[in-house]
Amino acid sequence: MASRKDYYDILGIRRGATEEEIEKAYQKLARTYQTAPLPGNRTADFRFKEILEAYEILSDKTRRERYDRLGVDFPLQESFWDEGPDEGDEDNSLEGFEDFWEQEFRGGTPGLFQVAEKGRDIHFTLEIDLVSAARGVTRKVQILKENPCPVCGGEGFLAAGPREVCGRCGGAGQIQVGLAPSAFALGCERCGGTGRIFLQPCKTCSGKGRVQQSAWVSISVPPGVDDRCRLYLCRMGHEGKNGGPRGDLVAEIRVKKHPIWERRGEDLYLELPLAFWEAALGAEVEVPSLEGKIKVKVPPGIQGGEEIRIPQEGVPRLAGDGRGDLVLCPQIWVPRIVDKESRELLEGLRHRFPAHPAGRERVQRKLERDP
Ligand SMILES: [Zn+2]
Ligand SMILES: [Zn+2]
Repeated sequence: MASRKDYYDILGIRRGATEEEIEKAYQKLARTYQTAPLPGNRTADFRFKEILEAYEILSDKTRRERYDRLGVDFPLQESFWDEGPDEGDEDNSLEGFEDFWEQEFRGGTPGLFQVAEKGRDIHFTLEIDLVSAARGVTRKVQILKENPCPVCGGEGFLAAGPREVCGRCGGAGQIQVGLAPSAFALGCERCGGTGRIFLQPCKTCSGKGRVQQSAWVSISVPPGVDDRCRLYLCRMGHEGKNGGPRGDLVAEIRVKKHPIWERRGEDLYLELPLAFWEAALGAEVEVPSLEGKIKVKVPPGIQGGEEIRIPQEGVPRLAGDGRGDLVLCPQIWVPRIVDKESRELLEGLRHRFPAHPAGRERVQRKLERDP
């Protein structure tokens, strides 16, 4: 049974929505879901496919009209009692499937039928640096794409060549499976449902009908993508079979480690070396940010392990406004004392602060409580 999805609900629009409203709703949702972080986030992946499906159907006049009328895009159960042949366009995998069912259950003429199949997706990895991921970048990549063979026009054989009746199906193009009344016909795999075997396959594609061709694709990576995000470029994958649509191009983003910034979500972490007197007295320092350099006031008395947060200087949010923070992690630097004068200065400090540092006392107390 076909599931009755509400495509209007999925896109969050009303039933009578205009083409423009559909487009707008899709663009907005696509921006949110197109780049679903991969590990463990199959929900977002699934949700995007659903959004894409809804958009493909509602943005196509014929398919939308049919969906509005029947409630589903491919009326599987309807075809049992739907008398008139459904004149749909043939370039869709689900409709090809529907034709197949109609022939089976109406006792239509067996013979030439071919199920339209969506082409395979092309998956590849796109490695970018942290700054490009934060700012967005356009990359050209070379991919190998399956296209229809230019010599035989995708047929796999030359129309003028010799042919013979398929030995497996006896020319019917399908094979009966099981016993009556639940007998069932399957398309013959050997002749691909054509009932004929062509004796001379096309030399260019070795009879496959498709050839691998390299192509350059420009990929625009939106600002804010993170490691293992996936970008979908719809209908840019391999050629479909029997008039089916092309597959998708799926780019998995890998973000390289940066020498100074570490990304955690939308925040950027940066080590901030401070001399111990800067930590004690406070200081004004200049730190590198994504947009250049910024001046930061270090509050007096900052301790190792504390953080200084500078709002809105991190990575832009992919789905939403604003950006994360830049987080400075002080690394307290202590000089090696070799001269007498420095030693005396520090000895003076030791006398001023005779007690153990607070942290060490805390550790000692914890030890006494939980030995
Ligand atoms: Zn060919
Ligand atoms: Zn056959």
